[in-house]
Amino acid sequence: MQVTRLDLDGTGSPLGLAGKILEAEPSLVIPVPIEDLARQLDIQDIAELTTEGFEGGLITDDVRSSGIVLVRKGMNRHRRRFTIGHELGHFLIPTHRPATPQGFLCSARDLNKWSNNQQDRAVRMEAEANRFAAAILLPPPHLRRFMNGFGNPHLEQALAIHEHFDVSKEAAARAYASHHRGRVAVVVAHNNRILRIYRSSTLPKLCVAPGSTLPRLNVPTSSPGSLSRMEIGRSEFWLESEWGKRLPRVYEQVLFQKDTFALIMLWCEESEDDEDYDPEEGKTAKERYRDRMEAKHRF
Ligand SMILES: [Zn+2]
Repeated sequence: MQVTRLDLDGTGSPLGLAGKILEAEPSLVIPVPIEDLARQLDIQDIAELTTEGFEGGLITDDVRSSGIVLVRKGMNRHRRRFTIGHELGHFLIPTHRPATPQGFLCSARDLNKWSNNQQDRAVRMEAEANRFAAAILLPPPHLRRFMNGFGNPHLEQALAIHEHFDVSKEAAARAYASHHRGRVAVVVAHNNRILRIYRSSTLPKLCVAPGSTLPRLNVPTSSPGSLSRMEIGRSEFWLESEWGKRLPRVYEQVLFQKDTFALIMLWCEESEDDEDYDPEEGKTAKERYRDRMEAKHRF
């Protein structure tokens, strides 16, 4: 590798930094060798973290001459890769300052913060470190190329990202939902409760949020590791209704995971009649009633 921290000078945003690294290292291989990259960028060592209750840490000095990344022992490979990316983010983003004199200490919760809450500096730093980790492990140009030619959404595609980029299924699903051209969301659920939602910007407004009870799925429950078929779900369980507008059709597909975890993909089909089309518009109440009665008797 040839990239040095001099190549990154003047860049402070997570995506900007990842972009500069890719520019200086155009033949960066996928899956990204995150440990080698961290060492290349002045991380002296990747050592074991022993502080209870934390996943990762970073020891560095005020001028950031070098750093030591700490990772909790026994972490699985994907989590470890993401945590190293996250700590490297704290090291490279010049405005990040540790909350403790011992350096940065990051909990499992911190590693799941994505909101850009500008009010809370600590939350913002964690979210930025996560964005950097995601951008360096799933570099957007590589991801776009990989996703090019994906047809209609299918969770198999998110699993292909997980394999190819060597990231967790959830990290893959998050990247998938935000980069897919379709109106897609991936919901992370545990024990029938929604933990996190990753979504494309074009998806209509959802009526569920993290913390909500998981709506009843039209997909039958299955054993851990199995991927369901795509089923038509109940749009009103997922989408906020708007007066006078018919809700678009929502498809559900579920990847069942162990310990009652599940990844649920939602896909809102695009169709001309999604938004404003009402097939009964213009009919009188009498006509509507007659049509319904006829339809009833047809079967
Ligand atoms: Zn952190």
